[in-house]
Amino acid sequence: MPFTPNRKFKQSPRLIVAGEGLHYDLADGRRVLDAIAGLWCVNAGHRNPRVSAAMKAQIDVLDYASNFQIGHPAAFKLAQRLAQMAPAGMDHVFFTNSGSESVDTALKIAVAYHRARGDAGRYRLIGRERSYHGVGFGGISVGGIGRQRSTFGPLLNGVDHLPHTLDLARNAFSRGEPPHGIDKADALEALVSLHDASTIAAVIVEPVAGSTGVLPPPRGYLKRLREICDKHGILLIFDEVITGFGRVGRNFASDLFGVTPDLITTAKGLTNGAVPMGAVLMRGAVHDAFMQGNVSAVELSHGYTYSGHPLACAAAMATLDAYTEDGLIARAAELSPYFEDGLHSLRGLPGVIDVRNVGLLAGIELQGWASGPGTHAQAVAQHCLDESGVLVRSVGDTIALSPPFTLERRHIDQIIDSLRAAIAQTAQ
Ligand code: PMP
Repeated sequence: MPFTPNRKFKQSPRLIVAGEGLHYDLADGRRVLDAIAGLWCVNAGHRNPRVSAAMKAQIDVLDYASNFQIGHPAAFKLAQRLAQMAPAGMDHVFFTNSGSESVDTALKIAVAYHRARGDAGRYRLIGRERSYHGVGFGGISVGGIGRQRSTFGPLLNGVDHLPHTLDLARNAFSRGEPPHGIDKADALEALVSLHDASTIAAVIVEPVAGSTGVLPPPRGYLKRLREICDKHGILLIFDEVITGFGRVGRNFASDLFGVTPDLITTAKGLTNGAVPMGAVLMRGAVHDAFMQGNVSAVELSHGYTYSGHPLACAAAMATLDAYTEDGLIARAAELSPYFEDGLHSLRGLPGVIDVRNVGLLAGIELQGWASGPGTHAQAVAQHCLDESGVLVRSVGDTIALSPPFTLERRHIDQIIDSLRAAIAQTAQ
């Protein structure tokens, strides 16, 4: 009998009472495979022993110290460690507590950078349609979610958006001839001539957009953006809140695509989700203009009470150890082809429009149902959870996957089998 979706999925959340490794325990006694790593963050598995031990040890030594004027060793050590992991030259760090804060911080740094260089006319920020940059007013302004922008507007002045369509992302990494998207990036040239290059402070993009449907860039796209930014003195910001820390099989998507931005925003995987923390990575010149240039840190007064919180630093150091010393990022890269094979086996099933993945980040785009946007994907997600105990996430008409890197091939098989059954059972 075909599977009939109901509204229970949204209305009665199964309460998660515990988590370990790849699994959550639900209040009703069931154990489910977490194929989305919490909310794209628990990359090293739930209650990773390294992370739990480091947090327990830290809480017995120092609970809190600010990082204004004074500081504590864990924050410095973590900054050094992040600088080692970051793309060459991005050796300065500003700590935040979330992805949204990282984005707003990066946007402010970009504006301050130009101002410190006497270029006060550069205030415009360019984002992209179909992008998500968090819930701050800055992030919503540059973000590409029309509903958010209209609900909370008027937003930041002088913001514009690059076009970004599903067509641009579809089949971007299919195994056929990869489409070139260099010409699509040229839309930035159009915005530059529209607005006058000397008024634009920064462009922000997710290298692979996550929450809006898992949208990889076409080949050459990010490189072209970099060229255009360089030509016009515009800073390039990559929002790597999801793609950072191994999700795409490399430390950062910047490494994978061979494009180094001026700033990288991070959060989520930085602490394995165990405690809130974000960080903005940047070149020294960008940082110094912000913190020591004509506009000083004191004048700006930008920082958070919990920037570089000792507990978060301890969790982050242990998480980075898990990624590097325990070889989890290498493992993500190693598992990617097997994951990709599984995903590609879903191509051609009724209602499947496209499958896309970069490393262990994947989207399965489904044909929308007349009953409303996202209803098909919600039904598939519900089927996976109810019938095979696999937790996936629906984002619009796309099923998103981002499993912890600790999974094994048999877990990938379980996820793909669960999706295959759900897609078949929900076919209309
Ligand atoms: N940027 C991106 C790319 C994100 O995916 C998210 C969260 N999904 C954010 C920013 C905001 O992060 P947070 O929810 O930690 O504020």
